[in-house]
Amino acid sequence: MKRLFDHIREKLSGRYEPTECESISFLIFEHVLGYSRLQVHLKKDDTIPDAKVTEIEEILNRLVDGEPIQYILGKADFYGLTFTVNPHVLIPRQETEELVDWIINDNKLPEPTILDIGTGSGCIPVALAKNLPDAEVFAYDISAEALKVANQNADNNHVDIRAQKVDILYWEAASVDKTFDIIVSNPPYVKDEEKSLMLEHVLSHEPHLALFVSDNDPLIFYSRIAEFAQQHLSQEGKLYFEINEALGKQTALLLREKGFPKVTLRKDINGKDRMICATR
Ligand code: GLN
Repeated sequence: MKRLFDHIREKLSGRYEPTECESISFLIFEHVLGYSRLQVHLKKDDTIPDAKVTEIEEILNRLVDGEPIQYILGKADFYGLTFTVNPHVLIPRQETEELVDWIINDNKLPEPTILDIGTGSGCIPVALAKNLPDAEVFAYDISAEALKVANQNADNNHVDIRAQKVDILYWEAASVDKTFDIIVSNPPYVKDEEKSLMLEHVLSHEPHLALFVSDNDPLIFYSRIAEFAQQHLSQEGKLYFEINEALGKQTALLLREKGFPKVTLRKDINGKDRMICATR
């Protein structure tokens, strides 16, 4: 086992920092052998069966090719929960955990009705449903494949969400007849011109549908969702977004223009403008 650990570190050292190598090693051991961190230490002198070594080797080769560990293992952690992921959905991000945390701490309603737009893996609605157990939670996505993953994640985490296929750019066509106390979205917000700044493993493996917007109209989703929210947010309702760090001011301005005079911009733990809450 110890030799295997050193082998993993050596193989991944070109691509990952030492601390990342270590956490990836533990994830691999947990996935392939079912060992916790403690068990890995306790069994460090054990011999690993050849079939398991081969399985680990295959994972290492995919990692060296740049595939994210979460897609290889088919799962990702988010807000203390485990989510199934595949290349049809973005890997849940830490920034999005911060957004979820804001919503949970901000909420004062005992039974809020919540809608997440562009739900992907369903990490936002599932984490909200789990932590606001009397909430009624809805989720929209344009991708049928993503909705499958979101439903699976709701089941695996034992919560109910109502997932529906909606193209929010044409929301009028969906004839929605509900109002929501909380509308949240982490829509595509990376400009095409920002592609060159992105990490290779994000660019080559994560769904472009969930990431990119055209340089001409990078706030198109914010604009359409704000218009939807004007029609479908309850009187005291709140609209939350994850945002492009470079577009904080413009996004705030757009939301004021769309009829939300109270806009709060928040930074993520890296000090970047990342979240917005808007109310009427
Ligand atoms: N934060 C993500 C990234 O930088 C982008 C998420 C999004 O476009 N909504 O990869």
